[in-house]
Amino acid sequence: MGKMQGFKGVDYYGLDELLTEEQKSIRRTVRAFVDEKVMPIIAECYEKHRFPDELIPEMGELGFFGANLTGYGSAGVDNISYGLMMQELERGDSGLRSMASVQGALVMYPIYTFGSKEQKEKYLPDMARGEIIGCFGLTEPEHGSDPGGMETTAVKDRNHYILNGNKTWITNADVCHVAIVWAKVGDEVRGFLVERDTPGFSTATIEEKFSMRASHTGEIYLNDCRIPKENMLPEAEGLKAPLMCLNQARYGISWGVIGAAMACYEEALNYCLERSQFGKPIASYQLVQEKLVDMVTEITKAQLLCLRLGQLKEQGRVKHTHVSLAKRNNCRMALDVARKARDLLGGNGITLDYQAIRHMTNLETVFTYEGTDHIHTLVLGQDLTGIQAFR
Ligand SMILES: Cc1cc2nc3c(=O)[nH]c(=O)nc-3n(C[C@H](O)[C@H](O)[C@H](O)COP(=O)(O)OP(=O)(O)OC[C@H]3O[C@@H](n4cnc5c(N)ncnc54)[C@H](O)[C@@H]3O)c2cc1C
Repeated sequence: MGKMQGFKGVDYYGLDELLTEEQKSIRRTVRAFVDEKVMPIIAECYEKHRFPDELIPEMGELGFFGANLTGYGSAGVDNISYGLMMQELERGDSGLRSMASVQGALVMYPIYTFGSKEQKEKYLPDMARGEIIGCFGLTEPEHGSDPGGMETTAVKDRNHYILNGNKTWITNADVCHVAIVWAKVGDEVRGFLVERDTPGFSTATIEEKFSMRASHTGEIYLNDCRIPKENMLPEAEGLKAPLMCLNQARYGISWGVIGAAMACYEEALNYCLERSQFGKPIASYQLVQEKLVDMVTEITKAQLLCLRLGQLKEQGRVKHTHVSLAKRNNCRMALDVARKARDLLGGNGITLDYQAIRHMTNLETVFTYEGTDHIHTLVLGQDLTGIQAFR
């Protein structure tokens, strides 16, 4: 069995020396949680198409939700510690990191940033504990990369807004207690907090995914869904607001996928040392060594990117284009590392006894969501040339 005991990770350039004791201690805590609670069950969760909901209370207790926010019961850690948390969670499974990303970066962050005092007090502490689960409804059946084209509407009716429309591909939609729904009021995009028991709000599960199987993914239907006007996020005006949330989540993804890549590399290295063909360990063959070297090289480059990105974020100097570069590079890197690992595991690499294929198929989603590889390429292309090419 390819179950990993005591994950070590990759630190080829001694980057641990640049981390504080606190950052390393936070990483140790998440690593131990993943080793003890996630690794024994994750392959079965993936096979059964099930998110391990039973881990949510402990994830809340350990401060994984909205960890880089301050107050309202959040852990209040620095952005590098937060990145390391996402890395360790995704070493377990991208579905686990997605859960924490959505809860923290896509639901708690907008309430924290754009919400009223009452909204913050009502939702944030319970969300930090994992007692309220949130989801982020931006994507629609006909509008993915181009969310500005959304068709969901919110119409004011005295003290209420009436919402109509559909959202799809929404992580946690089918289990959420509250959804942040982005809808147009006239021509302007606004954010609304919609509680599950609101008449006119319903959800459905997207069944039979072949990626992110250990994650809840669903659709949201809004049919004359009437919510009090106080449920609008007062400070979220225009498409910029959801894009700011996505920027937070993409920061976590940039770190997270390094975890998936390290898991695949470590598994492949161990396998290649143990597995013999033609009378020698396959690790002794040049072509195999080249793949292992490429993996460590690319993981190391991705780690350097993230460390610098974290410093810039900590100093308040990070631009959305910096985040696009890291998201694009690191997703490509992780997918490539997972595919190489899958190859080195031979036929065993297509089974759930090993991690590579699970990470590989998950990373197909991570490559696409939160801005596809193409879209981040064009965001960067526009930044370099001043010419917008995606419209
Ligand atoms: C498992 C999963 C979970 C998700 N969770 C959430 C969530 O919680 N909340 C949420 O709101 N959304 C979520 N999404 C949706 C995700 O963000 C979208 O799938 C993504 O933005 C792409 O949109 P799309 O699928 O409609 O593809 P499209 O936008 O139709 O893109 C299809 C292809 O066309 C390319 N393309 C599109 N426009 C251009 C262009 N101008 N130039 C070049 N190429 C272009 C794309 O790059 C892609 O290759 C999730 C998706 C998945 C798979």
